[in-house]
Amino acid sequence: MNFKLIYKHIAYKIHDHGFIRVVDFMGDDFSIVNAARISYKDGTKKINEDKNLIKYLLRHGHTSPFEHTAITFHVKAPIFVARQWIRHRLSSTNEISARYSVLPEEMYIPDEKTICNQSTKNMQGRGSQLDKLKAKKARKEIAKATSKSFQAYKKLLGEDIAREISRITVSLNTYTEFYWTVNAHALIHFIRLRADHHAQYEIQAYAIKLLDILKIWLPFTHDAFIEYVFNAETLSKTMIEVLQRKLKGEHITQENSGLSKREFNDLQSIFKII
Ligand SMILES: Cc1cc2nc3c(=O)[nH]c(=O)nc-3n(C[C@H](O)[C@H](O)[C@H](O)COP(=O)(O)OP(=O)(O)OC[C@H]3O[C@@H](n4cnc5c(N)ncnc54)[C@H](O)[C@@H]3O)c2cc1C
Repeated sequence: MNFKLIYKHIAYKIHDHGFIRVVDFMGDDFSIVNAARISYKDGTKKINEDKNLIKYLLRHGHTSPFEHTAITFHVKAPIFVARQWIRHRLSSTNEISARYSVLPEEMYIPDEKTICNQSTKNMQGRGSQLDKLKAKKARKEIAKATSKSFQAYKKLLGEDIAREISRITVSLNTYTEFYWTVNAHALIHFIRLRADHHAQYEIQAYAIKLLDILKIWLPFTHDAFIEYVFNAETLSKTMIEVLQRKLKGEHITQENSGLSKREFNDLQSIFKII
């Protein structure tokens, strides 16, 4: 697929009112390869095939060649998602100003199937899905509270109260829009953290779409990222020792492993043999 031909025409829909759209970009896989070759010019002759070179770079954390690219997205997301998004400092952002413009009445109301109870295992996360009736009630409550705060916003605007003051009534699920420019290094870092299952579902949806876009824009980088970063795991020293003991036939339990319960469970879920 030719990225140049398609990017201008597609706004990928996310959630109820959100989207991601590519505004502009610079470079491709070969820009990364060319930047890297400056380092390797007369040196290692083995590192010669473009695809393999990109794999080599990511595998060894030689990330600066990925910085010779750039991509600008136009993102529409709820304020609480944007707040997590802009924590990624190695990027440039320009957000719509609600001091200047009036916000449209567009709020994120989660699907019933994504409304869960509080996780007991992960203090930051969602637990199991609620039964239909409870989820429906929660969704209604969110919609009601959201609508009430937006009515207050409209009322204040109607009374000619300054937009910068009126806007403080709107809820965190109100949609905002921003331009976001990153290089490929920062983009894959964002995707690694935010497409991961530990990230909040609502930002995950955007990060997963960014991964799809990366695949079209930089296919070699995408494949190397999936192989060496996204679907790879980092093992601690003790984890490696536990695996070595297991391979020698030792019976391993959490108690004799030297790992915490969480680490032990992580290791089990990766290898399914402990
Ligand atoms: C699952 C999850 C939960 C989170 N929970 C919380 C939370 O509860 N509270 C909270 O405040 N944040 C939270 N965050 C945000 C998190 O701490 C990071 O701020 C965010 O993920 C951005 O990552 P980053 O700093 O690596 O990226 P960037 O800001 O883009 O930085 C990229 C890299 O540049 C380097 N860098 C940038 N700035 C500095 C600096 N000042 N000093 C040294 N090196 C620097 C680092 O190597 C960094 O990894 C959470 C993130 C995730 C993914």
